[in-house]
Amino acid sequence: MTSNPRTRRRFVAGLAGVPAAWAASRWLGPAAGATDYSSTPIVPADQGLQRLIEGNKRFVSGNLTALQNRTADRAAVAGGQSPFAVILSCSDSRVPPELVFDQTVGQLFVVRTAGQVIDEAARGSITYGVDVLKAPLLVVLGHSGCGAVEAAIAAVQGTPIPGYAYRFAEGIGPAVQQVVDKPGDLLENAIRANIERGVAQLRTAEPDLAAAVGKGALTVTGGFYDLASGEVSFLS
Ligand SMILES: [Zn+2]
Repeated sequence: MTSNPRTRRRFVAGLAGVPAAWAASRWLGPAAGATDYSSTPIVPADQGLQRLIEGNKRFVSGNLTALQNRTADRAAVAGGQSPFAVILSCSDSRVPPELVFDQTVGQLFVVRTAGQVIDEAARGSITYGVDVLKAPLLVVLGHSGCGAVEAAIAAVQGTPIPGYAYRFAEGIGPAVQQVVDKPGDLLENAIRANIERGVAQLRTAEPDLAAAVGKGALTVTGGFYDLASGEVSFLS
């Protein structure tokens, strides 16, 4: 995608003089500049991952517990957020991260696009979750039967797809190219390659994220969600 320089100039000019933290907090909640980390200890990445694994086990067995205290949970985070993980997942209606990991409000900072493609807005949102909200764990969550990856496969194979679908299919195309000659199921191989590419991209593509990874303040991993079983398998 090519950004229009005139539009971009106007947008940047509109933010001139506004402190970055304020500009972000205006849109994402009052906590951005005021989160009290001393009273809301950050969950280390390994413990956060364990929470996700345990939550997914509850989801698979149908014993969800995270939403039992909704009113109290909502009140507890009304003044600030300190999510323990950022989840980048597909927009697919069957893969809602809070349910899949059995988490309540304030626990996951979720960014969703078709095929979990990392465009500029997604990258900015993810970086906000890590840089400002201090989430130490970032998970790229793909899933079986992903229609966005199917669209990318069709495009790579020369089958026409709707014009809007190219906007996400072109982000997935390199993952498809990577596995197109490999044995096995092309769709599943491409879905897994797309998750792995997303993880690699996020570790290095954004300077703030790369710096956090370098300092040991951020763990980036990927997960594959199986639509039929509800199970998430994390990349080792
Ligand atoms: Zn999908």
